[in-house]
Amino acid sequence: CGVFGVVGVTDAANFVALGLHALQHRGQEAGGIVTHDPKTGFNQARRMGLVRDNFTSADTMEELPGSIGIGHVRYSTAGNKGQTAMRDVQPFFGEFSMGGAAIAHNGNITNAVALRRELIERGSIFQSSSDSECIIHLMARSMGRQIPDRMEEALRKVEGAFSIVAMTRTKLIGCRDPLGVRPLVLGKIGDGWALASETCALDIIGAEFIREIEAGEMVVATDKGVESHFPFRTKKSRFCIFEHVYFSRPDSILGGRSVYETRENIGRELAKEAAVDADIVCPVPDSGTPAAIGYSLQSGIPYAMGIIRNNYMGRTFIEPTEQIRNMGVRLKLNVNRALIKDKRVILVDDSVVRGTTSRKIKEMILDAGAAEVHFRIASPPTAWPCFYGVDTPQREKLLAATMSEDEMRKHLGVDSLRFISLNGLYRAVGEAEGRNNASPAYCDACFSGEYPVAPSDMIEQGFQP
Ligand code: 5GP
Ligand code: SF4
Ligand code: MG
Repeated sequence: CGVFGVVGVTDAANFVALGLHALQHRGQEAGGIVTHDPKTGFNQARRMGLVRDNFTSADTMEELPGSIGIGHVRYSTAGNKGQTAMRDVQPFFGEFSMGGAAIAHNGNITNAVALRRELIERGSIFQSSSDSECIIHLMARSMGRQIPDRMEEALRKVEGAFSIVAMTRTKLIGCRDPLGVRPLVLGKIGDGWALASETCALDIIGAEFIREIEAGEMVVATDKGVESHFPFRTKKSRFCIFEHVYFSRPDSILGGRSVYETRENIGRELAKEAAVDADIVCPVPDSGTPAAIGYSLQSGIPYAMGIIRNNYMGRTFIEPTEQIRNMGVRLKLNVNRALIKDKRVILVDDSVVRGTTSRKIKEMILDAGAAEVHFRIASPPTAWPCFYGVDTPQREKLLAATMSEDEMRKHLGVDSLRFISLNGLYRAVGEAEGRNNASPAYCDACFSGEYPVAPSDMIEQGFQP
């Protein structure tokens, strides 16, 4: 998901809509905006579908007056998977004795099932199926005097990954879980402040990127300035390494470096680790593009656009059912036949999850008359599900969970298949020594199976990490 918030600007809702539009790659199922205006109080609009289809009409935007606002774009990882119900669309809103508050959450709460059970037993009335709603109920039960105090107390009971943007009548609040698994950045716009999942959402509104919110940090921004504190026991941060590989937009800055540059490095590492003789290097667009450029630069094999993408489709992976996902590849990608014919082709993609995309693309490329197809993947084999906010399927559906690399190669029907090593990936994201196995710098659970936060709900349901 993507979260965004702004305080201290005229017509905050316009900024929020733009910010969410820049974060649309983080979730396309639904979106919502909450604002506050002294005359009208809290205002909200929550809709299914894309930001550009919902938050551009004058009518909707007129219903969202105020100089403070937050928003959310949703991609379901918990609750009703792939079938967002209206009641699951964020931000969530709660009324407390000291006033209302709205919250937007990116991540996934790993003890949400247990918390929900406990809260329901004690009388909480849940409105949605979303894990994030627990936070509002925990806040309602807190005795804290101010809303940020209540949020702090609530979040101390929550396990897992959370980057949160919340608001009261006058305060914009941002918070990251103790490991800082999901991103969150702070920006300055005029006399106001903005919080966003990624810096590309600051760029679109012309805000200046100030810094990342740190792991375990909570900030409270008002028109008077920004206060920061660290309400949780501090731990070494474990940012999601897959944000670098796939999830974030290439024009965002993460950990002080451009995501694009990191992805190009990943491609270079891959070329060093898994060289092969070929005529052209083609990306699977768009997710494989920067890594393919890096691979081409490192290997000296020319880069070419062998696959053309129709930009009017969403990301295939996010489409809900298997059937739509299968069609999705063809609807979105087509082979540039004239270029491919009789060539030995290196195809670069960011990841193999179910293997659906790779299989379809290989078929399309061979149909077009390619002489050889070599797959190069910019992440290690995805062998474990993510429980921290990226929607990887159950373990059984992950190709790498059930097959060796050679079995995968045969299953995909390609001449060769190589993944970047975990160490190579760490080098590419800036860890010169590779992965420090005693204390890794990132979360890499979907590749290593080492979960930095025990996924306790899933363990209760029988999952074995
Ligand atoms: P597959 O077809 O192997 O199931 O999925 C791989 C493709 O899905 C890649 O091209 C990748 O860009 C895309 N993808 C989209 N969302 C995700 C995600 O959340 N996780 C992973 N690993 N890949 C994703
Ligand atoms: Fe990111 Fe993978 Fe960790 Fe999920 S399991 S937070 S996708 S590195
Ligand atoms: Mg892709």
